[in-house]
Amino acid sequence: MVHEVVVVGGGIGGLTVAALLAARGVDVCLLEREPRVGGCASSFDKFGYSFEQGDGLYSLWQPNEIHDQVFSELPVDSPEVHLLEPAYVVRLPDQSEIALTRNTEQFEESLRAVFPECVDGAVAFYRKLTPLSQALRRSLQRTPDFFSVSKSRRAFSLVSEGRMGAEILTAARQTTLAQLSGVSSRFRRFVDVQLQSLIQGSSAQVAHLHAALALSAPHEGMFAIRGGAQALGNTLADSIKRSGGKIRLDTPALRLSYDSAGVASGVDLLTGETVTASKAIVSNLTLWDTYGKLVGLNRTPNKIRKHLQGLRGWGAYLLYLAMDDDAATSLPSSHVMALTDWQDGQDYDPENNQLLFAAAPSWDPRGPEGKRAVTVHAFTDVDAWFTFHKDETELEEKDQGMLESYWNRLHAAMPELGDNIEVIDTATPRSFYDLTRRKLGMVGGVTPTPESVWSKHPAHETSFSNLFVVSDTTCTGGISGLTRSALALANKLTHT
Ligand SMILES: Cc1cc2nc3c(=O)[nH]c(=O)nc-3n(C[C@H](O)[C@H](O)[C@H](O)COP(=O)(O)OP(=O)(O)OC[C@H]3O[C@@H](n4cnc5c(N)ncnc54)[C@H](O)[C@@H]3O)c2cc1C
Repeated sequence: MVHEVVVVGGGIGGLTVAALLAARGVDVCLLEREPRVGGCASSFDKFGYSFEQGDGLYSLWQPNEIHDQVFSELPVDSPEVHLLEPAYVVRLPDQSEIALTRNTEQFEESLRAVFPECVDGAVAFYRKLTPLSQALRRSLQRTPDFFSVSKSRRAFSLVSEGRMGAEILTAARQTTLAQLSGVSSRFRRFVDVQLQSLIQGSSAQVAHLHAALALSAPHEGMFAIRGGAQALGNTLADSIKRSGGKIRLDTPALRLSYDSAGVASGVDLLTGETVTASKAIVSNLTLWDTYGKLVGLNRTPNKIRKHLQGLRGWGAYLLYLAMDDDAATSLPSSHVMALTDWQDGQDYDPENNQLLFAAAPSWDPRGPEGKRAVTVHAFTDVDAWFTFHKDETELEEKDQGMLESYWNRLHAAMPELGDNIEVIDTATPRSFYDLTRRKLGMVGGVTPTPESVWSKHPAHETSFSNLFVVSDTTCTGGISGLTRSALALANKLTHT
């Protein structure tokens, strides 16, 4: 089989590139090893519930924003989305809480009430954030691959931002911690829990430029998708087919195939078949797996190997819960980010300091009558799940131990849940590995540090001129960041 472009992987990244290319008339074929598309974004279905495997908080769904831009090109309607207001509530260990709302006055009022010890610093921090994030959003709208274009193109793109252009460059060099000198450690932890949940790192780690986008997202508007992110995946798959593209499910790619000159020419499948790509191959696998599996480590340049060795991601431990509909009325929001421990004077510890409670909205309960599907997300270090185990019972015991510990912490953080909630199942980094084959089940992308803000070369490019990557390991910002990255790649491949 010969196609112009072969896409390996049907996660949101691969699906979006394929949908855009197919809509632009490119002959595209997408290979997905699972029987359905979606990858990390797919739902987990059990006992009449359909759980999101993610947190269910999606940004940039307003007119002219990235999803609108993409769907305006596709022959399908975008999935139904609804604004979450507030986007979420942060609950602190002393049970005080702040609603992350679009109403600035109300938000500042709650900052004053919850952080009396550093009112001015806390309000000033957010007031400085707004113009920075707005200038960056405009830059990304003008130049979707803003983070990976050449220095001169970046400088050109910033000209129209005037003074804010300089602020953007400064915020790229600093972590958020540099902006938090005049505030209490309580306020810093309030920022940490959000940054860790939204972009996988604390204020001491993340580049302030990425933090500005993440922290301003709830004020700009965050959305829930009817049917969850799986619905987005299904809609993109439908679009690919309607545009004449091909999707092959249950089709694991084994490795790249090479011609006699050593140039990547397509993909060898597990079945022994080769799918040839006359123009380009797009890998939707993580950077680790693109090189480790598709390219092969023996063909991976040393510099890239070294880079991959230093690249780490978090694992996710999920509790899938069934909640009585009535219990939802006592919650401050469908989404609660709970900081469960202050850990004063220590590095932020996401494994032990936080939980994210995400209930399906009332207009899309995703459960049997009178029930709602809830996903609780905790961070976990992946190594312990993949070290040698004598047998499966050791893993089951670890899973059970985590479940008990998180269950107790959840009830301590959200006592109003009482008996109105029960456990349906759990997911571990092993489950994510089984679902997606991502290295060690590492999910959610990698921490965007000041060192990694500007890619040394365009983020999609690889050591082969016709192999490109679209993955959450090469961009930041969850599904909206991935969608922007996919649009930039589609533009590159079609010279738009
Ligand atoms: C717990 C959690 C919560 C999250 N919450 C949110 C949220 O609230 N909002 C948000 O915007 N984002 C959220 N995210 C992030 C978002 O879901 C992911 O970043 C995104 O879905 C990743 O998509 P991807 O295309 O990069 O990769 P993946 O989803 O990993 O897709 C890769 C695909 O490739 C396939 N594949 C692998 N190997 C092969 C092979 N050899 N041959 C063929 N196919 C193969 C896999 O089966 C998979 O379908 C969350 C992520 C997690 C884990």
